[in-house]
Amino acid sequence: MKEGSTEAPIRHPIAWQDPAYTDWDALDTELRRVFDICHGCRRCFNLCDSFPRLFDLIDESKTGELDSVSSTGFKPVVDACTLCDMCFMTKCPYVPPHEFNLDFPHLMLRYRAAERARGIKPGPGEAQLTKTDRNGRLARLAAPLANWASARGNRLTRPVLKGVAHVHEDVELPKFHAKTLMAKAAHHPVARNTAAPAAGRKVALYATCFVNYNNPDIGEAARAVLAHNGVDAEVVYPECCGMPQLEGGELEDVAGRARRVAAALAIWIEDGYDIVAMTPSCALMLKFEWPLIVPDNAQVKRLADATFDLSEYIVDIAKKEGLADGMTALPGGVAVHLACHARAQNMGAKAAELLRYVPDAKVTIVERCSGHGGSWGIKTENFPVALKVGAPAAQRAADADAAFVVSECPLAGKHIVQGMEKIDGATAKLAVARAFHPVELVARAYGLVK
Ligand code: SF4
Ligand code: SF4
Repeated sequence: MKEGSTEAPIRHPIAWQDPAYTDWDALDTELRRVFDICHGCRRCFNLCDSFPRLFDLIDESKTGELDSVSSTGFKPVVDACTLCDMCFMTKCPYVPPHEFNLDFPHLMLRYRAAERARGIKPGPGEAQLTKTDRNGRLARLAAPLANWASARGNRLTRPVLKGVAHVHEDVELPKFHAKTLMAKAAHHPVARNTAAPAAGRKVALYATCFVNYNNPDIGEAARAVLAHNGVDAEVVYPECCGMPQLEGGELEDVAGRARRVAAALAIWIEDGYDIVAMTPSCALMLKFEWPLIVPDNAQVKRLADATFDLSEYIVDIAKKEGLADGMTALPGGVAVHLACHARAQNMGAKAAELLRYVPDAKVTIVERCSGHGGSWGIKTENFPVALKVGAPAAQRAADADAAFVVSECPLAGKHIVQGMEKIDGATAKLAVARAFHPVELVARAYGLVK
């Protein structure tokens, strides 16, 4: 159900193979139709930087209406969109089935696809950033060197990264690990608690590129918590879901990934496994975006129906069978950021729900967007905007006086902690100056990880 509404929003299949989809005149007509509705509405003025840019553009035009705005002014509006989906999910009363049929994020996506069709693409250096599997495989071979080179404050390499790939020098970049989650899972089986109430459940944990290469600790915590609860959890990772490519409007590329991953995971589903994605953006792709991009593929549809978000899945266990005993209180409160792509899954605030199963948990919800938006927020031109958009979330996390900052989205969590660094004394209150996935704190509460 849509937040604040009684009607569930509908999203239409994305007609990316129709020539009209990338036709510049047809697109301009649709942009003007939608922007005019937004101009009259303005509910989304504080969600991101796209809407302020749009409204300033109109207000500063000759007539103060869209008719005197040149279409060349639309690009900065599109460029500021992180595809967080918050306008669609939380604000807009005009989303389908409303007759206005307004889907602002997917219109921004269409613009990017149309740019690509016209040959407007990121430079070769920037394009390398979205090759998450290739980068992860290479970086793990020399993880210490890769982490040294990408470290914030490296005066030798970061200016080069900025020049070649447009990565802002102050962005904290994800680290790489010599041992991926797949490698760890292959070499270190976790014993299952077969007496736990949820014994009998079977899960294929879709590692996701981020957890596999950049943060296997999340995957290790998930394996430990699921095993403690009796679940037979296997780690699978055919390839990245393509969210970075979606952000860039590469829809044909995303369609190929959807078909291949759905085919690879079909055997697990047939064998009775639930599919659990470990980051919300990837769960959103599997559940919602892929079926809109390849609507005629039965395996993609079946995968969407079989997929859970990680927090959603553990809460499901808690509600249906009950969680295994053994959790103890955490040392201090938890500021829980509700990641936009978790909210966009229409499943409720599962991160907060999950953490409330930890005894005596003092949970403060941070509902505002972190401002990061995948690979968008690391770019030179976007990082300052990302910090500005994310400042209210960082402030709310700082005001929580919590010992832990949590977000299901590892990039959002990292960005919020970086925003907190700009607030006097905010990170000093944290037990650990980094963000956690909720499952990592549940694993701590069980005493399964340190
Ligand atoms: S999807 Fe997010 S970033 Fe894009 S316009 Fe909507 S609220 Fe703004
Ligand atoms: S996206 Fe919807 S809610 Fe937001 S400004 Fe436009 S019309 Fe209003």
